[in-house]
Amino acid sequence: MLGVYLHIPFCSSICNYCNFNRGLFDAALKARYVDALDAEIRATPLAGRAADTIFFGGGTPSLLEPEEIGRLIGACRDSFTIGDDCEITLETNPETSSLARMERFRAAGVNRISFGVQSFREPELKRLGRIHTADRAIAGVQEARQAGFDNVSLDLMMWLPQQSRENWCENVESLVAVGPEHASLYLLELYPNAPLKEEMARSGWSLAPDDDAAEMYLWSLERLDRAGYRQYEISNVARPGRESRHNLKYWKDGEWAGFGCGAHATVGGVRSRNVASTEEYVTRIAAGEPAVAERRMLTAQERLEDALFTGLRLTEGLDLDAIGHRYGVDVWSRFGPSLAPFADAGLLLREGDRIRLTRDGMLLANEIMGVFV
Ligand code: SF4
Repeated sequence: MLGVYLHIPFCSSICNYCNFNRGLFDAALKARYVDALDAEIRATPLAGRAADTIFFGGGTPSLLEPEEIGRLIGACRDSFTIGDDCEITLETNPETSSLARMERFRAAGVNRISFGVQSFREPELKRLGRIHTADRAIAGVQEARQAGFDNVSLDLMMWLPQQSRENWCENVESLVAVGPEHASLYLLELYPNAPLKEEMARSGWSLAPDDDAAEMYLWSLERLDRAGYRQYEISNVARPGRESRHNLKYWKDGEWAGFGCGAHATVGGVRSRNVASTEEYVTRIAAGEPAVAERRMLTAQERLEDALFTGLRLTEGLDLDAIGHRYGVDVWSRFGPSLAPFADAGLLLREGDRIRLTRDGMLLANEIMGVFV
């Protein structure tokens, strides 16, 4: 089954740490963009393929009108074979949500809401340049519930400037109190010229020491275990059965189509990427030209590396037998000698045909995965 990703590149304001493909909301451009997306989906060479997830990511997809989201879901339904149980996720900024909009998004066909909350503490939200308050985030989840959504996810960011371990624990306790079905806990990553970096230097804000960050990560996963969540990926936890089916396609060597500016796709061993610029994307589609900027067949080595990298992010780990059959390699013979020191250090477990990271190993995932390249 394919996943279908739709990129919506508009935001009400730009957060000072954000490195995604996004720009400020412009109503006229948005209208042209929705037309272009609709046309790109309807012209897909993958027409007729079965798809079981649709994911509106951004940017801030909830800035689109619910009727526009409904139109794009309709285009997907007309182009792909989509069953009634399709997971349809809308990334949402709490500032753009209200009970009425949630009801209309639900009527449009959305059945999963992913709120970008980032923090439940006002000083942290302000430092990140977020436009919503913690109360608005909590109200947003309540509105989603009232509108009938029973599959809600929250994103939180940890290791923020000036964030102590206690501050992070407060955030996790708030998350548990709000009670989403799914949560993603991301480490703040500062890209080289992020405005937040300059602001940190100007304001004298610092990050907690690395050891504290490690403790914050491990403590939060234990707390979420106790609250009935199951960690299924390095940064993701869910109530049983509420894992993100769409994101699992990225981590389980799956296939996905991508529409919109900068969207990536991987189908049949071919990876493609659309032009990043919103204006160029709209102009190309309006002229009947393809939006693809790059398309290439992945090499066998790249496909194997991808499968190893992404699969090891999952708590269930890698099925060495399955990968061996799929790619014609004996993974343990090839990488075992390099992985053995990590296993000896308790960072990696080998259980029958599977290898998986321990939680301590997840803290050093990049170093361990470096073995594969
Ligand atoms: S709302 Fe999300 S996509 Fe938009 S600027 Fe902020 S972090 Fe980036």
